[in-house]
Amino acid sequence: MQPVPIPDRKQIVEKAKGAFVGLAIGDALGATTEFMTPGEIKLQYGVHQQIIGKGWLYLKPGQVTDDTQMSVCIGRAIEKSGGWDLTAVAEEFADWVKGRPIDVGSTCARGIRNYILHQTLEVAPSRWSAGNGALMRMLPVALYTLGNEDLLARYVVEQAHITHNNPLSDAACIFFGRLLHEALMGAELFGRLLALTKSFVKNHPDFAYNPYPGKSSAYVVDTVQTVFHFLFSTDNFEDCLVGTVNQGGDADTTGALAGMLAGAVYGVQGIPKRWLKRLDHRVCSEVDALAAYLVERSPALLSLTD
Ligand code: MN
Ligand code: MN
Repeated sequence: MQPVPIPDRKQIVEKAKGAFVGLAIGDALGATTEFMTPGEIKLQYGVHQQIIGKGWLYLKPGQVTDDTQMSVCIGRAIEKSGGWDLTAVAEEFADWVKGRPIDVGSTCARGIRNYILHQTLEVAPSRWSAGNGALMRMLPVALYTLGNEDLLARYVVEQAHITHNNPLSDAACIFFGRLLHEALMGAELFGRLLALTKSFVKNHPDFAYNPYPGKSSAYVVDTVQTVFHFLFSTDNFEDCLVGTVNQGGDADTTGALAGMLAGAVYGVQGIPKRWLKRLDHRVCSEVDALAAYLVERSPALLSLTD
């Protein structure tokens, strides 16, 4: 594969913002159909395509859930410590749980409780931790490590193991980080990104998504297959997200991850205005600022001179 030429700094920041705002939008849009089947969604909404809140959590329109909040925790930890500090990440998770968030996954809750009680930064390996809870919050690590694949792999797995210690989860976290790095540097969806994904699936056949098995649970394999399927079968942010969240299941998380990758590919200007307007304004401005902060401090951006 040919290396792609390095885009300018403005374009990279724009895509980083697209990824973080896209993640929050996917979370807010998908929370409405979380735990529903495609048939139930069709019956109730026809096609679900507006940010209206509700869902099993009775959200306000534009409200986000744990996927966005835990990602923000990692971003804040990096900003507050001025670098990577795993204890700072765990502290942010602990403060977040103590603030009684609207939604906490059971594996995340268990890992964070372990940290609060025993200062454990790594849970024991377990096949039960093959949920998507570590994957859904890894974006800030990818932004902060842009340009350094070794740092990405190290930090992204460290943050994962606070709650999820499982090889499938690890592989997904590292590869989504890789895809984000490539997308931010301008790799094309149906060129390099698709080729990388095909070779990832070859090495990790569990994640084969073509033909799409149609499951969209919180099992990290189902989640990754759903995100790949809708990312690579659409050519714009809106269609990718609408397809993903109408699949139901863990729709806020598949939505968040599809929004993250599609946002990195299409940039913030690829996100429909009606969704941007609806997203909780405080969340929108915080993730926008964090995206710029994190990527501006990445090795790749620091090495670029204006
Ligand atoms: Mn959620
Ligand atoms: Mn979820």
